[in-house]
Amino acid sequence: MVVRAPYTRTVETHSADETIALGRALAPLLGPPCVVVLTGELGAGKTTLIKGIAEGFQAAKQEDVTSPTFTLVHEYRGPAVTLYHVDLYRVDTPRELETLGLDDLLEPNSVILLEWGEKFARFGRERDVEIRIERTGEDERRITVNHAPQSQPAAG
Ligand code: ADP
Ligand code: MG
Repeated sequence: MVVRAPYTRTVETHSADETIALGRALAPLLGPPCVVVLTGELGAGKTTLIKGIAEGFQAAKQEDVTSPTFTLVHEYRGPAVTLYHVDLYRVDTPRELETLGLDDLLEPNSVILLEWGEKFARFGRERDVEIRIERTGEDERRITVNHAPQSQPAAG
C-alpha cells in the first residue's frame, strides 16, 4: 500500500515547457488508483501540465495530449497505468456527469485527471490530489500540489 502523508508544495513555472517538466516529475507521486482534480481558469495550464504527467507515465507524447473539451474523456495507456483525462467544463448537471461513467474508470491501475472537477462536490470528497494553477503573468504560473491524507476505510 502506498502511504501518502498529507502535504502541499508550491512551484513557480515560467514557460509551458517548464510546466510540462513539472508534470513529468509529478507522475511518480500519483500512485494509482488516484483521482486528481486540476483547478485554474481557462488557459491556466491544466492541459499543459497533463501533457507532462502523461509523458511521465510513458502513456502519451505531449503532442498527443489535447483538450477533451468536446469528447470529454481521453484515455492514455502506459505500461503500468492508464490515464483518463477528463474535462468537465461543458458538463453542468449530475445527470450529464453520470453518463460519463467515471465510476467505471477507477480501476486499481487508473489515474483520473479531472479538469474542472471542482464543479461537482463529490470530487471534493473523492480526490486524492488537488493541483491548483494560478496565472501570475503572461508565462508565469504558480502551481500548488495538495495531497490529501490517505483516506481511511469507513468503520463497521
Ligand atoms: P487549460 O487547460 O487550463 O485551459 P491550457 O494548458 O490549455 O490551459 O493552456 C495554457 C496556455 O498557456 C497554453 O497556450 C500555454 O502555452 C500557455 N502558457 C504560457 N506559459 C505557461 C506556463 N508557465 N505553464 C503552462 N502554460 C503556459
Ligand atoms: Mg484544458
